[in-house]
Amino acid sequence: MPDEKFTQMVREMQLYLNAHANAGLDPDGKLGGKTLKAAQVYQRSFDKTPPMPSRGWRLAPALAILRGQIDHAHPDRSKVADGTIGDAAHAARKSDHNPDSAGIVHALDITHDPDDGVDCAKIAEQIKTDPRVSYVIFRGRIFNPTKAVGWRLYTGADAHNHHMHVSIKAGTFSSDTREWKLP
Ligand SMILES: [Zn+2]
Repeated sequence: MPDEKFTQMVREMQLYLNAHANAGLDPDGKLGGKTLKAAQVYQRSFDKTPPMPSRGWRLAPALAILRGQIDHAHPDRSKVADGTIGDAAHAARKSDHNPDSAGIVHALDITHDPDDGVDCAKIAEQIKTDPRVSYVIFRGRIFNPTKAVGWRLYTGADAHNHHMHVSIKAGTFSSDTREWKLP
């Protein structure tokens, strides 16, 4: 049965994200009612330290909505291996966790927490063919449709056993806030 509250939440988030697609991160304090609620959901979908406009980056709206959906469906999920913006090590190399020239981060890490309903194997399998996805990495395997038709062995330093990495494409794909199909 469709969860009407959930559908409504997604719709509000989409409205908010679309309206602020080119704006900074600051939730507009003057917004009222439903829009404010959506803004709060959006804000909560960021890390514990919300990125300040002065820091000049934000998570791509397409990924913000993906995380918002997962958070909403699994409020008790572990976020221990979650990630958005890259650390110094990421900054030293090419990574979708580094903001692009417009300050957009195109990668999201989601903690594998099957006990609380977040089975990244299932999520990865479901989202890997979404047109927004550039590539997905989980448990020593990478799915990148521009390189191969199926999963390939991932030989990076971190096998991604405790989190799933999702990279999305730049441009309109990154601001596409359509609801994700999730398991
Ligand atoms: Zn990652």
